[in-house]
Amino acid sequence: MTENKRPQRPIWIAGPCAVECEEQLFLTAQQLVEEVQRRALWLDYFRAGVWKPRSHPNSFRGVGEAALPWLSEIQSKYNIPVCVEALTPKHIELCEQYGIHTVWIGARTGVNPVEVQKLADTVRHKPFTIIVKNPLVADLALWIGNIERFLQADCRMVMAVHRGFPDNKEKVFRNAPCWEIPVDLKLRYPDMPILCDPSHLCGHVRYIPQMAQIALSYGFNGLMTECHCSPDNALSDAQQQLTPIQWADMTQHLKKPTNTPDGKLVGQRSLLENVDNQLSQLLWQRMQIIDEIANIKKENHLPVVQPQQWQKVVERYHLPGQDEPYTLFIDQFLNLLHQASIQRQQNNNTLNE
Ligand code: PEP
Ligand code: MN
Repeated sequence: MTENKRPQRPIWIAGPCAVECEEQLFLTAQQLVEEVQRRALWLDYFRAGVWKPRSHPNSFRGVGEAALPWLSEIQSKYNIPVCVEALTPKHIELCEQYGIHTVWIGARTGVNPVEVQKLADTVRHKPFTIIVKNPLVADLALWIGNIERFLQADCRMVMAVHRGFPDNKEKVFRNAPCWEIPVDLKLRYPDMPILCDPSHLCGHVRYIPQMAQIALSYGFNGLMTECHCSPDNALSDAQQQLTPIQWADMTQHLKKPTNTPDGKLVGQRSLLENVDNQLSQLLWQRMQIIDEIANIKKENHLPVVQPQQWQKVVERYHLPGQDEPYTLFIDQFLNLLHQASIQRQQNNNTLNE
């Protein structure tokens, strides 16, 4: 029986993007374990990619099977289960031979249900823990389908990991968070642990702690984070790997939200938080554009207030299907916005009245 019981404390998974050599692997594991002990933290799984599905054929593709005895040693030395990415049934069989019983299904594999089914058939009735990352495409049905394949295969446990979705529009993070997708998954599978992978989501260490906190605030059950003893020298994903000390600093300071009795309320509040974050950023961005416009008007001796232009803005906000109370509200809101914009432009541009 698949035991999808959610533990009370968050699940922490950390380790390098890839095993590069014995020294890098053991040093990373040792440093992580030292930090865990020193700060009374915990580490539920040590992660390390062995077969790397890289976009370019000349990129580092992992050391392959050679890494498995090392990982097996780490597992017994530190008594922490190790997990690796499995792309083929053969990978799962090799892991089993080396006593590794936790594997993750990567975002690239996740786009092909036929391959995922082969992996599910390989772990059928076996004591494997399967971590299903979201597929590269932002399609909840596909992610759910992959999860169901493993639940139906009756392995030991299934967890999901949100690692974001490639999106040409996303400019800040490596992948678009699309929080509504994992939050929806969480509402449908309340007992399945759903983790966030802030490393692949952000693509850069500078955003990771903030993203990790957002994930926990959304009610995610833990994190899978890339961690390397010397990130600058990493052979893959160098920019997004924390040092073990940085990982421990972040983990120590993360705050778990207090539970509310109603899971649906938590879900809706998470969606609201996402919208509010975007609104706040967009309004600030709008004001900065207003400042640019003020400068252009000043240089060209144009008046601050141009009524036809404002009429176009108002029309943009009136969309079909919006009810009357909302329309009244938006008109009031636009009035405020207009006054604030004029005020800003006049402050920047006292010559043009
Ligand atoms: C990884 O975790 O190393 C990895 C390749 O992840 P993803 O499949 O999410 O890109
Ligand atoms: Mn990686």
